[in-house]
Amino acid sequence: MSDTPREDPAGTMRRAAQRMRRRAEAVQHYATPWRTIGPGDDSDRWSVAYTTDHPAAGLLALTPDYGTWNLPDYIASWHPLVALAVASLLEDRAKMADDQLSPDTPEGPCCEPPTACRGHDPEWGCNRCAVYLSSGSCRCGFTEALAVARAYLGEPEDHHG
Ligand SMILES: [Zn+2]
Ligand SMILES: [Zn+2]
Repeated sequence: MSDTPREDPAGTMRRAAQRMRRRAEAVQHYATPWRTIGPGDDSDRWSVAYTTDHPAAGLLALTPDYGTWNLPDYIASWHPLVALAVASLLEDRAKMADDQLSPDTPEGPCCEPPTACRGHDPEWGCNRCAVYLSSGSCRCGFTEALAVARAYLGEPEDHHG
């Protein structure tokens, strides 16, 4: 058994932030706000467009014809400035995690002979709250930031490094 938990929370947050930032910067030249445009006479499709002076320009995405305003509204709302702001939040939280989180292997009465358990997996603990992250009792936002990062990366909680 290793002394280090599989996942490094700060690392997961940074990977998500980097991917988010890279994707956002690649489309940042499409000026915000992004808007939705309803179907015209000849189509059932909604579109997402960036801000431009040219009335016929700015198309970013066209929804399928079974779509409604929900989809383009959603796409338009995740514009680059939002993604960059969320990436910054994740980076800030990762920096805090560098200082506040450390790996530790839980021990308890269950570990004592004669009925000693087989030991516990190492976990990340928050030094400020004096709890393991897995307890759900840390109030520093690491759990929430990790949830954002994992969801964005599409990686489940027990992802192997
Ligand atoms: Zn034990
Ligand atoms: Zn905490």
